[in-house]
Amino acid sequence: MDIPTKIQTLRDELNQHNHNYYVLDKPTISDFEFDQLLKQLQELETQHPEFFDENSPTQRVGGSITKNFNTVAHEHRMYSLDNSYSTEDLMDWEVRIQKILGNVDLDYTCELKYDGASISITYENGKLKKAVTRGDGFQGDEVTNNIKTIRSIPLQLKGNYPPKFDIRGEIILPFAGFEKMNQELIEIGETPYSNPRNTASGSLKLQDSAEVAKRPLDCLLYFIVGNNLPFKTQFEGLETARNWGFKVPSQAKLAKNMQEVLEFITYWDVHRHDLPYETDGVVIKVNSLQHQDELGYTSKSPRWAMAYKFKSEQVSTRLNSISYQVGRTGAITPVANLEPVQLAGTIVKRASLHNADQIEKLDIRIGDKVFVEKGGEIIPKIIAVAERGSESFPTVYITNCPECQTALERKEGEANHYCPNFYGCPPQIIGRIQHYITRKAMDIEGLGGETVALLYQNGLVKNYADLYDLKIEQILPLERMAQKSAENLINGIEKSKEVPFERVLYALGIRYVGETVAKKLAKHYKNIDAIANASLMDLILVDEIGDKIAQSVIEFFENPENRITVERLKNVGVQLTLDESKSTVVSNVLEGKTFVVSGVFEKFSRDDLKKAIEDHGGKVGSSISAKTNFVIAGDNMGPAKLEKASQLKVPIISENDFLGMIGDYKK
Ligand code: AMP
Ligand code: ZN
Repeated sequence: MDIPTKIQTLRDELNQHNHNYYVLDKPTISDFEFDQLLKQLQELETQHPEFFDENSPTQRVGGSITKNFNTVAHEHRMYSLDNSYSTEDLMDWEVRIQKILGNVDLDYTCELKYDGASISITYENGKLKKAVTRGDGFQGDEVTNNIKTIRSIPLQLKGNYPPKFDIRGEIILPFAGFEKMNQELIEIGETPYSNPRNTASGSLKLQDSAEVAKRPLDCLLYFIVGNNLPFKTQFEGLETARNWGFKVPSQAKLAKNMQEVLEFITYWDVHRHDLPYETDGVVIKVNSLQHQDELGYTSKSPRWAMAYKFKSEQVSTRLNSISYQVGRTGAITPVANLEPVQLAGTIVKRASLHNADQIEKLDIRIGDKVFVEKGGEIIPKIIAVAERGSESFPTVYITNCPECQTALERKEGEANHYCPNFYGCPPQIIGRIQHYITRKAMDIEGLGGETVALLYQNGLVKNYADLYDLKIEQILPLERMAQKSAENLINGIEKSKEVPFERVLYALGIRYVGETVAKKLAKHYKNIDAIANASLMDLILVDEIGDKIAQSVIEFFENPENRITVERLKNVGVQLTLDESKSTVVSNVLEGKTFVVSGVFEKFSRDDLKKAIEDHGGKVGSSISAKTNFVIAGDNMGPAKLEKASQLKVPIISENDFLGMIGDYKK
């Protein structure tokens, strides 16, 4: 097989496997086999950059940066939908359209109304060309690079598609993925996202497409627009989109009359809670495209479609008490303990009360009957008081920490109260050590969160440095601790001394210092003392380190106890210096510059060239954008890249020019 055929075959195979996995939910190979195929393709593409294709499955990982999203006009306007809330509304609608159509036989396509961010994707000759947000309906933001990272959206279509069309759909974040993202935020002491819809729509506007690629987004399609489409009804349109490779939910149903529409609504009003993503209603569409044409549009929405909004499910129940939880960062969360009640298929006992402002605004009191609603979040929330309890008193928010009795603080502009007793408050102490041992931090094998709590309760550890002083005879007497597990624990702790500096920095649990920030700081300062002694100004000058992070780093090291803990870690041999032999930072001459590498080179392999860019502080981008500062071109640079570079006026340089740039700093 010649190279281009081999590349094409791999791309086709990978596209099909993506489809099986993300659209059909029926993978036919293991993740490992998939990764192997992808790796093969990546290698071939690296060796033969002349066959570069922006729609190759290798491009799904993202990497391009968009500073400003271009505003582009929709070729076909994106309308909104009229809303209805009752059977009568729907009957009235049918009467109105029958008046225009002249009492014809009508059937309807019923679909669920997915709650996310709408998107319009243009395909030309079967390839994804561009993706644009709804914006004001006439024009939106072009977010193509971000959209391409969503695995269920085909980059290459199958079957018999017209040369050009737009397809409309909803970008959603399924509950499970949303919960996982929030779990990770909570782990680093950040505020979790409030709901899946806002998070999905916010994701589309992230500047770094590699970040979007990490988010478990999905896209559900519901409408094709274009000329000479090969179908005559909405229902066939959905079927057709499915055949071309799009993810179209199977719940859509053809209803022969309004009676069947109402049955669909009644069914899904209950069963929507079993779906893995959020829906907020049903969309009813006149099925025949010819009828749709005759009905046309009002100034803002099609006459041939109607949304039916579900009433969000609410129940009222008694608020028995309020408890207050203390997180790792000391943040206090009030939780409502309710008289257990059935809501949307589950029994609810607890609900979130958010913070003191929320309690005050709604004037929620113990003993009240309150309305509880289930929205996008797994934990339901209290939305209003239904009935004032007898003998009720206004809720007085706690003034002291429920765990350590320290007076709470509330920073200017922050919604939450905090317990400032960083070093004496048990859930904070335990939480910090639990964070220290997690997989992305020190990854200590043989030690789990519960054991940490046990060690603390038995007075064996008060901070993570204490872990390194543990002796096997101290832990053996602990509950459920056998000789073997005790040994594993000690070995796991010992092994953590090899964990590289950037992960140790993350493990320290400095507020706002997540994995990425830790890497940046490690790379820039190279050792812990340099970070500890940096001034606020100094820190802010580091690429991508803002006020909030800088301030938090300063506060951490201002504290003498933290300094002692870090000193102890250093003395036992934990990595607090960047290992230059592993990470080869050489200079910062290329700081703030983004390079795209294209073609074959004489003095470097492509990987070495990329490494050289990073070693000198530069960034490597995967595709040319307005953010690219230089394209380093070798032999056989792809024509598409050449054109893009000249279009955006990005300077094209040779490998020798590049060597000149890093000149004196060359290793
Ligand atoms: P609204 O934002 O209330 O005007 O509702 C219109 C929006 O509903 C559209 O812009 C779509 O983003 C969204 N939507 C969700 N599911 C569907 C569906 N099955 N058919 C049409 N629109 C839908
Ligand atoms: Zn406390």
